[in-house]
Amino acid sequence: MIYKDLGKTGFKVSKLGFGCMRFPTLNGRTDEIDKEKTIEMLRYAIDNGVNYIDTAYPYHGGKSEGVVSLALKDGYRQKVKIADKLPIWLINKKEQLDKYFNEQLERLDDSFIDFYIMHALDKEGFETLKKHDICKWAEKKKKEGQIGYLGFSFHDDLDTFKKIIDYYDWDFCQIQLNYMDTEYQAGLKGLKYAYDRNIPVIVMEPIRGGNLAAKPKGDIKKTYDESQYTGTPAELALKWVWSQPGVSLLLSGMNNIAQVKENIKVASSFENESLTEVEEKLIENLQKIYEKRIKVNCTDCKYCLPCPQNVNIPDIFKIYNNLSMYNNKKHSIISYGMYQKKHTDASQCIECGRCEERCPQNIEIIRKLKEAEKAILNN
Ligand code: SF4
Ligand code: SF4
Repeated sequence: MIYKDLGKTGFKVSKLGFGCMRFPTLNGRTDEIDKEKTIEMLRYAIDNGVNYIDTAYPYHGGKSEGVVSLALKDGYRQKVKIADKLPIWLINKKEQLDKYFNEQLERLDDSFIDFYIMHALDKEGFETLKKHDICKWAEKKKKEGQIGYLGFSFHDDLDTFKKIIDYYDWDFCQIQLNYMDTEYQAGLKGLKYAYDRNIPVIVMEPIRGGNLAAKPKGDIKKTYDESQYTGTPAELALKWVWSQPGVSLLLSGMNNIAQVKENIKVASSFENESLTEVEEKLIENLQKIYEKRIKVNCTDCKYCLPCPQNVNIPDIFKIYNNLSMYNNKKHSIISYGMYQKKHTDASQCIECGRCEERCPQNIEIIRKLKEAEKAILNN
């Protein structure tokens, strides 16, 4: 394993961290973790040098932290740092901070969380953070010896990211980044912004929830075959992330032992952290192919919102684009189903036209929503 300095924390972190949100499960239920396989995977990773384990309150329906604690018995806890996250969207009152924190310690069967993260900060979460002075609460926990370092994970636009970075002297932050999301959310500009301010960056979704590791088909396969690249798609995606200046470690939500072994092998051998010409060219070609598949040129600016019928226009376009780009049919149906349940799907549109007047990209939203729904439901 290769280790890197995690900025001002002084901790030598393995460049591969274990994300605990995609453990193997039983009976098709996300909240029924296959403990035996999961413990084997986590311990294999730790035995092979991984020393950063990232879990969160809601992962696996609230069961992830408990299984992590089981895997860390028998002396494994001393070999790793645990990262856990405050579910900031559940906080309405200051008193709830201690409640959730104590519940997390209980689930982890521990008295200390090494890296404590404000989970999935966005504009709303940032307001909650300020309103309840949560950083001050966390500082007290640090002084009392219950938290090691304080950071945040992020899901919103670049401007919001910069504001959050500037708001507090964070020990670290966590962003989504992969070779297809260079301008999505914080993106590469956000990475640089944090790096320039000496804030270590942890990267999540390096293979875009598995999309970039899928078995290549059609023109994607042809592009791989025509290059002289001999590694796997997952390896390529991971290497791209590690080659970006400012990335301290990446988290991979590993689902089986084969993935754990492959990722450890790549993490242990990619020492110089720069891509070869072949790899660079291949990524450039893959980016072009994926981009050509984009169906709606939506920038997620949200100017079209609110819709009087509560149609979640940008998210529906995101699902449609993802379906077209990565052909992940099952995932798109599940995602769309969540909007159907909340009655914010495309079928709610009454064609009032309000959104189209506001869209700076001049997207024919009404027509595209129909097209998106048809593609998602009939795929
Ligand atoms: S046209 Fe449809 S999607 Fe657009 S604002 Fe009106 S109801 Fe909402
Ligand atoms: S206004 Fe247009 S570009 Fe912006 S989120 Fe809505 S549909 Fe997308």
